[in-house]
Amino acid sequence: MDRTHAVVVGSTNWDTCMHLPHLPVPGETVAGGRLQAGIGGKGANQAVACHRGGADVHFISAVGDDQTGAGILAEFQTMGLAVSGIKTVPACPTGVACIFIDARGENCIGLTAGANARLTPQTIEQYRELITSAGVVLLQLEIPLETVMSVAQIAAGAGVPVVLNPAPARALPDELLAVVDILTPNRGEAAALAGLYTGSEPGLAAAAKTFLDKGVGRVLVTLGADGAVLFQPKAGAGQAPATQRFAARAVTAVDTTGAGDVFNGVFCAGLVRGLSCEQAIEEAMVAAALAVTREGAIASIPTREEILAFRT
Ligand code: AMP
Repeated sequence: MDRTHAVVVGSTNWDTCMHLPHLPVPGETVAGGRLQAGIGGKGANQAVACHRGGADVHFISAVGDDQTGAGILAEFQTMGLAVSGIKTVPACPTGVACIFIDARGENCIGLTAGANARLTPQTIEQYRELITSAGVVLLQLEIPLETVMSVAQIAAGAGVPVVLNPAPARALPDELLAVVDILTPNRGEAAALAGLYTGSEPGLAAAAKTFLDKGVGRVLVTLGADGAVLFQPKAGAGQAPATQRFAARAVTAVDTTGAGDVFNGVFCAGLVRGLSCEQAIEEAMVAAALAVTREGAIASIPTREEILAFRT
């Protein structure tokens, strides 16, 4: 087993973003929109980020048997991302997100899961060997929870590190947390998952401790422009977790959509390329900082050359 590839399992969407002067209220039509459409979905964003971060990536996902799905597959191939793990689901639409964004960057989003809801544990079975021979497996929560569980258990059973980005936040069973090596919530997701206030540093540490107590190996919380913090268990029952802070790179942000996806994808690329957790975090911070200086999701994800150039 080579353990030199990463496996990302997650959603693929077509994002239709409309920038508007203000968000419409029920019954209102707002004119003057600027349209920006492209591939999205946390799974796709993270898989592309992992690929551009220099990893050999296998993306397991699903699209519909419509023109949108075919277009997405073609675009992935142009990017150099392998599509053999992407299932085309018959008689099913591709997942679509309709996003309205106002002049201040506030948004509202309508989502239809489409084929993402059909990425089942049965589908995963055909990729068992790919998963058990991986160097790292990266998951999010835009596909059925039983599929996430199934992938995490297959990976953990083979000793493959599981990174779970718990987004969008939802209640998670303890059996899942028990097999997660690195949980990567943002501050809001940490609060929602732990049911605790995480606006203060002690609150955030308390939330991290609830995850560590349930068997998560490490908790890596992303904090937007404030960087990230890594919590690891300390020996001895009841001990507060060890905490390590990472400062974000100072940049002028123009669009922070998808920063977390870039962070997670590039972080896992670093891990599978043999970097330490700390080195992988530093590289992910550089990539995410670069991404927030540009508009768009996939379009804003930097290449490895850009990451290296910015770092030095
Ligand atoms: P978030 O999901 O918003 O917590 O962001 C994920 C990561 O992206 C953070 O841990 C930072 O490394 C980076 N990031 C997000 N927003 C900014 C920003 N305004 N400036 C620099 N880095 C950022």
